[in-house]
Amino acid sequence: MIEQYLLDIIICPKCKGELLENNGGLICKQCGINYHVDDGIPVLLSPATYHDIGEILPAWNSRWLKTAEPVPSGLENEPDIMSAFGHVKKYFDLYPSDNFMEAGCGSGRLLYLMGKLGIKVIGMDLSVEALKLTRRWLEKAGIRNSYFICGDMRYMPIKDSKIGFIYGGGSIEHFEETQLGINELRRVLRQEGLLTLTYPLLSIASLTYRQLYGNIPELPVLKQLYKFVHVNIFRKKFMIFGLEKSFFISTMEKYYKKAGFTNVSSAYFDTYLDIAVFKSEFIKNLLRKTAKNRLFWPMVFTNGVK
Ligand SMILES: [Zn+2]
Repeated sequence: MIEQYLLDIIICPKCKGELLENNGGLICKQCGINYHVDDGIPVLLSPATYHDIGEILPAWNSRWLKTAEPVPSGLENEPDIMSAFGHVKKYFDLYPSDNFMEAGCGSGRLLYLMGKLGIKVIGMDLSVEALKLTRRWLEKAGIRNSYFICGDMRYMPIKDSKIGFIYGGGSIEHFEETQLGINELRRVLRQEGLLTLTYPLLSIASLTYRQLYGNIPELPVLKQLYKFVHVNIFRKKFMIFGLEKSFFISTMEKYYKKAGFTNVSSAYFDTYLDIAVFKSEFIKNLLRKTAKNRLFWPMVFTNGVK
């Protein structure tokens, strides 16, 4: 059973046609593609998504299958999610809306924190297992106003102008077609709605230690070079979750402006670095301090208003 609220806003990710309920799944009235519904969650991935990233979807799904349910009372001790919440809350107060979408919601910790404020939350992710995990623990935690869609930012399965506020934390860097993703996010936003995305900055940090995540700088020549090394020499050893890019702020702002966003602005995103690969607390602290220096900034954010 899909909630009526979702049925009213979803569309076919391939042709943007109307979806009809059909034998427990969904069928596109226009192109005839069938979509399955997993545990009440519509899986609205287009054939293009399976073609491009079908190879890494199982890695994401098995990662989320192994992830323990977050504990609501423990979230305030998790600095990474508290900094994301602080960021989102600050801009949500400036651009209030009756709904909130997180594109790439993972285990849904932010959806919980926003849902607790009484806001209708919509979680979208490429991994249906992430969404099933999120739905399970949010339900137990009493967050009723929550909805889930398995989707791809490049082929948003949502009608035009339905969402008031969209946040994507470290998700825009995971595919090639950045412009397409930003165009789509803007399309589903309402007029005056805000998009805020965080992403790795192309900096000394991304060119050095982020290489352990197979980061590819979004810059001609360097991009080809780093990609060649990761694909042909390391055989994608560091790219287990597929592509991860880093951007200059100016590059990202260009994508926003080309999509039609106004009031485009960017700044340092004060994230908490886990730095799991280094065991020494001394090195961890040193890297955390270094990260405050602009040359080493790991993450930044860009905002834009429709
Ligand atoms: Zn269709």
